[in-house]
Amino acid sequence: MSTESVDVAIVGGGIIGMSIAYQIARRSNLSVAVFEKGVGLGEGSTGGSSAITRQRYTTIENVRIARDGNVIWRNWSEYVGNDHPNGSFHDIGVLWMVDDNPDVVAYDQQRMSAEGIDVVDIGADDVVDLFPAISTCMVPFDLTGEVEHVCSPGDRFLLERDTGFFDATGALLDVSIAASKRGVDVRLNTAVVDVTTDGNRATGVVLGDGSTISAGLVVNAAGPWCNQINAMVGLEIPWDLVPTRIQVIYRALPEEVARPIPVICDSAGGIYFRPEAGGGQIILGSILEEDEMEAVDDPDDYAKVANRSFIDLKIHALHHRIPSLPYKGIPGGMASLYTVNRQDVLPIIGPTSIDGFAVVNGFSGHGFKESQVVASMMAQWITGERASFDTDIPMDFFSIDRTPVEIAEHNVLA
Ligand SMILES: Cc1cc2nc3c(=O)[nH]c(=O)nc-3n(C[C@H](O)[C@H](O)[C@H](O)COP(=O)(O)OP(=O)(O)OC[C@H]3O[C@@H](n4cnc5c(N)ncnc54)[C@H](O)[C@@H]3O)c2cc1C
Repeated sequence: MSTESVDVAIVGGGIIGMSIAYQIARRSNLSVAVFEKGVGLGEGSTGGSSAITRQRYTTIENVRIARDGNVIWRNWSEYVGNDHPNGSFHDIGVLWMVDDNPDVVAYDQQRMSAEGIDVVDIGADDVVDLFPAISTCMVPFDLTGEVEHVCSPGDRFLLERDTGFFDATGALLDVSIAASKRGVDVRLNTAVVDVTTDGNRATGVVLGDGSTISAGLVVNAAGPWCNQINAMVGLEIPWDLVPTRIQVIYRALPEEVARPIPVICDSAGGIYFRPEAGGGQIILGSILEEDEMEAVDDPDDYAKVANRSFIDLKIHALHHRIPSLPYKGIPGGMASLYTVNRQDVLPIIGPTSIDGFAVVNGFSGHGFKESQVVASMMAQWITGERASFDTDIPMDFFSIDRTPVEIAEHNVLA
């Protein structure tokens, strides 16, 4: 078989790999190929993503990444060069009901607004005015129902007004179309089965049909399969990147429940939720570390339906937060994977000890909102060129060689 050649070979066509391809193509003439083993787009984490674009994080770098990403979500049509994109932004607000201590809320409000984020510190009455269906109770809710619960309103809450969620599969389709239009070779149904090397340098990829594509740079953007790609090139990393089963619930949101409903992070019940794009459904997930512990050995083989016990527990928390939600219908749920970096729940991004081999892995539940900014960092590093919507945040913070970053919470809210 003949050997083709590209400048950059990207393994994995999820939101990370495809966005890197697009960000390279919109600023340079480098030849780029994306190899995606799925027959369609979104078969990995991206297809299951809740795609919430909140900007509150422990580290200021993550706050800034989310903020710079938010500018892109807001200007999506211009960014992808498409007057009729498939994905749409829903800036319905993100309401943080995680710590009602006035000092904590005021601190977060100040440090985020100093970064240019539209965020306000509001009281329980404001919550009721803005979102009449939402209970302002901040008393931890016993999900087993064994302890009698008496609601009591919280004090202060944080509301991010300029963000919400995006449509994950629409975004993936849009960057794929935009990349293809700029000459990126997007190959679906094409598994990478090996990475070729010459001494300490990666030189290309071997595909399932036995053909070899030589490449100046191989990028591991394989999501929960990332460890398999690192093993192909013999890269050992000091990070535990664990493919982890994550469950979400879908629940009807009937007309009688007052709108609007924002994105909500709720520590009293240990849940987050948001309305689905059409508004007739709620997507609900967990914010608890204990629900991010189910390691999966083989990312191609895990239970894709949510556990009934998980649904039953979390749905109580939803009824606590939306008391007018009628107890009718049977909520369903699904499970998909994301890769948890067990050391500091931040991704590893950039070059590795193998020349010509880079990693973009371990996003731990934050990868959708970070995708376009991380792709900007990678494209600036690969091409040396700048483009519109570029971030100024240095990539080194996420280097594979860093010391694990100290973070307050080892969960999806970190
Ligand atoms: C339930 C859930 C909720 C989430 N909620 C949010 C949220 O609210 N906000 C947020 O920012 N993030 C969220 N995330 C996380 C976010 O979706 C992920 O971080 C992001 O989608 C990761 O994208 P990726 O491209 O790295 O991985 P993936 O989407 O998994 O893409 C990797 C791709 O690589 C392909 N691949 C693997 N091996 C090979 C191979 N050998 N050859 C070719 N192709 C290969 C796979 O088929 C896959 O399509 C959530 C994730 C889940 C699962």
